[in-house]
Amino acid sequence: MPIAPNLNWLTQRAIQTCDRTALIFADRVWSYAEMEAEAIQIARNLSEQGIGYGCRVGILMENHGNYIFLIYALAKLGSIAVLLNTRLSAKELNWQMQDSATKFLIYDRRTEEKACEVIERFQTGDQTEGLKLIEIEAVKQADRDSQQRISQDFIPDIDLESIQAIIYTSGTTGKPKGVQLTYGNHFHSAIASAQNLDTDTRDNWLVCLPLFHVGGLSIIWRSVLDGSTITLEPRFDLERVIQAIAMGKITLISLVPTMLTRILDRLSQSDVSMQIEEWRKLRGILLGGAAPNQQLLERCLELKLPIMPTYGMTETASQIATLSPQDVMCKRGSVGQPLQCSQVRIVSIDFPEIELPIGEIGQILVKGTNVMAGYVNSSITETLRDGWLHTGDLGYVDSEGFLYVVSRRTDLIISGGENIYPAELEEILMQHPAIQDACVVGVSDREWGQIVVAVLVTTEFLTVTEIREFCLSRDLAKYKLPKAIHRVDRLPKTASGKLARHKVLESLS
Ligand code: ATP
Ligand code: MG
Repeated sequence: MPIAPNLNWLTQRAIQTCDRTALIFADRVWSYAEMEAEAIQIARNLSEQGIGYGCRVGILMENHGNYIFLIYALAKLGSIAVLLNTRLSAKELNWQMQDSATKFLIYDRRTEEKACEVIERFQTGDQTEGLKLIEIEAVKQADRDSQQRISQDFIPDIDLESIQAIIYTSGTTGKPKGVQLTYGNHFHSAIASAQNLDTDTRDNWLVCLPLFHVGGLSIIWRSVLDGSTITLEPRFDLERVIQAIAMGKITLISLVPTMLTRILDRLSQSDVSMQIEEWRKLRGILLGGAAPNQQLLERCLELKLPIMPTYGMTETASQIATLSPQDVMCKRGSVGQPLQCSQVRIVSIDFPEIELPIGEIGQILVKGTNVMAGYVNSSITETLRDGWLHTGDLGYVDSEGFLYVVSRRTDLIISGGENIYPAELEEILMQHPAIQDACVVGVSDREWGQIVVAVLVTTEFLTVTEIREFCLSRDLAKYKLPKAIHRVDRLPKTASGKLARHKVLESLS
């Protein structure tokens, strides 16, 4: 059961379940007491460097035990962690740091070069004052004499209203937005997740998602509140992940669809095919971040894998709804019922004040204790109204309250008055043996309003007629067929690996 929210969660674990394994990373094991000691040491030394209550501290680090210790250390100081995506360019990072008024940047050996580049850019900008670069290993090694002196700077309790982190959205629809998540968001999200997935102290969560995404970060809070173990991987390495599951100790794993597709491709090879048994024994494979395609879902069902499709976003501290493995078969394509912390409402696409009946597709609104405190940049106001987050995603709810996510509002194509959801067409196009990647967009048209255009990565030349015939052979309605195609070498993706549809559209105009 989760522990009381009014004490530093890690400290409480270190008292109550001190010997239990908190973290396994690079063949090293930390108990909760040892993790607390690491966090205290880092917090003391950061305090020496001038980091204190309310400071915004950028973290530009790859997955590592130190990342988790640092998150806890910043919690002890009441500082706000600004989680930076290591795959972004120095220019993009610089923008996020300026936008969030971040004055410190903590980096590791692998991100040193980029951190220096970010600093150089800062120095040519107008915010040079107060920006400080800190290397994480140096912090750990710092003078131990100062230790007694500084612990009085620690805040004893976690305040659920305080901001724990600022995380930028993936930038799939445009410029990333700085999301402010509170301790309360994480607390309520973790409790609702534990209640839904039935997680407890015996669980061991394999984390191969980046900790700088909400999907990774949220596991830290779930784990400390459940008292379970995190097995952390530096990154998603196919062979290492397969090996980790083969050891039989992991009970849960979080993946995005592209990772699971690669895993299943690998597991279909004879040298490791036996290991599918270990994947079946998992308590759950949380699958989110983007919609899994139908083919992937079918493969999982065939292999009897305990997948849990989940729908969430940075703004909701991870999961909004999650489908349990036993419902995957009878609720194909659904992302489950909303978690205890979230309410969901489906409203008209054009008139958000009108709620739609069961089964009708509209915009998904979410309200709940897991919904962010707001964006860093307070000029982005239209997304939160009366506590209802306007997700910009389209979907519907069935008569039993199961949610289905259909598309993003910005992806919807309206051609001749008919709604066309690109994902449906992309799914069919991807089944063509010569199509490696597909993106369907709506291009303005005087007669139809918009026309459907497919931008494709192909291994051979294909004509529009061939493609239209292929789609028709897969029972796609005529009005949804592409009117034009473009061949490209590669489709633009965001730093989180999502299709950047707005960039495809820009390239067409
Ligand atoms: P930005 O808000 O900057 O455009 P983003 O929305 O991709 O980027 P994230 O917060 O990382 O940023 O992603 C959340 C979004 O991912 C959701 O709003 C939704 O569009 C999509 N998503 C997540 N899970 C699913 C799912 N199971 N099915 C369909 N879409 C999903
Ligand atoms: Mg978004």
